[in-house]
Amino acid sequence: MERPALSLIIPVYNEEAIIEELDRRLKGFLSEMDERWEVVFVDDGSQDRTSEMLNEIAAAEPRYKVISFSRNFGHQAAITAGMDHAEGDAVVIMDADLQDPPEVVTEMIQKWREGYDVVYGQRSIRHGESIFKRATAAAFYRLLRALLPIEVPLDTGDFRLMSRRVVLSMRALREQHRFVRAMVSWVGFKQAAVQYERPERFAGETKYPLRKMMRFAIDGITSFSIVPLRLATWLGLLSGFVAIVISGWALYAAIAGQTVPGWATIMIAVALAASAQLIMTGILGEYIGRIYEEVKRRPLYVVADTLNLPPTDRSSPTAESAAVTSQRS
Ligand code: UDP
Ligand code: MG
Repeated sequence: MERPALSLIIPVYNEEAIIEELDRRLKGFLSEMDERWEVVFVDDGSQDRTSEMLNEIAAAEPRYKVISFSRNFGHQAAITAGMDHAEGDAVVIMDADLQDPPEVVTEMIQKWREGYDVVYGQRSIRHGESIFKRATAAAFYRLLRALLPIEVPLDTGDFRLMSRRVVLSMRALREQHRFVRAMVSWVGFKQAAVQYERPERFAGETKYPLRKMMRFAIDGITSFSIVPLRLATWLGLLSGFVAIVISGWALYAAIAGQTVPGWATIMIAVALAASAQLIMTGILGEYIGRIYEEVKRRPLYVVADTLNLPPTDRSSPTAESAAVTSQRS
C-alpha cells in the first residue's frame, strides 16, 4: 500500500459531543486535499459513546483509522500511539475538540514544503479559557524556558506538523513520563512557527483538570531538567551562610553574658533547616519515583482493538509495545 502524504493524529477521550462535528470539519478540509491522507484516532479509554461513534465513522471511511486503548493512559500516551502508527510523510497532531483548527494545517503544510521538519502552532490569542488557565499557562511556559536546557517555543501545545524523519526519531524515545512538545524540540531539525487564534472548545468540558495539569507540568520540568536537584546545593550554601552569621552573633551574646533569651533564634533556625530539608526530600522523591517507574520499562499503552489498520501495523515499531500487541493476536 502506498504511504499517505498526510497523517492527522487525534487523541480522543470522552468527546461524544464533538465527534460528529469533528468528522464534518475534517471531511470539509480533507476533501480539498489532492494528496493521499489518513486520520489516526486514538481512543484513550473513553467511557462514553466515543468509541462506538469513532468505529461508526471509520466503518464508512477506510482512511479513518482507530486505535482503542484498554483504559485511559493519558493524552501524551495517546499521541505517542498515534506517532507509532502514522505513516504519512507529514504527520500532524491535533486536539479533537477543534481548538486546533484543521484549516491551520494548510499553512503548516506550506511551511513543511518550504523545507521545515517541524511546524508548531503558536497561540496568539486564546479564546474561552479562564484567566487562571491563561495566566498559569503563560507562567509555566516561561518557567520551562528558564529551566530546560533545550529551546521550547513559548505558548505552544502539541498542535504541530512533523516530517516523517522527525516521527521516526520520536519513536525511539520510550520514556514513561512524556512531555511530547519538548521531546520534539530535543529531536531537533529545522523548526518553524505558525500563529493562530485558539478558539473555544467546541463542546464539552476540558479533559485536563488542575490535578492533571500539575502532573503534566512537573513531568515537563523533571524529564528535561535537573535544576531542581541543584537547588539543594544552593539552599545548603544559603543556610550555611545564615548559620555562620547566627553562630557569630550567638557566640558574642554568650561572651557578653546574655544567653537566656535565645529561644526564638533556635526555633527559627530549626524551622528553617527543617523546611529546607523537607523541600529537598520532596524533590528527591519526585526524581526517585520517576527512576523507579522508568526502570520497570512497561509499555506506554495497551491497545485493545484497532480498525482500518493492517494487522502488521498493530505491533508498534518498538519491541516493548510489539510484545504486548502480539500476545493478543
Ligand atoms: N485527551 C486524551 N486523554 C486524556 C485527556 C485528554 O486523549 O486523558 C484528549 C482530549 O480528548 C483532547 C485533547 O486530548 O482531544 C486535549 O484535551 P483538552 O481539550 O481537554 O485539553 P485543554 O485543551 O483543555 O488543555
Ligand atoms: Mg482543548
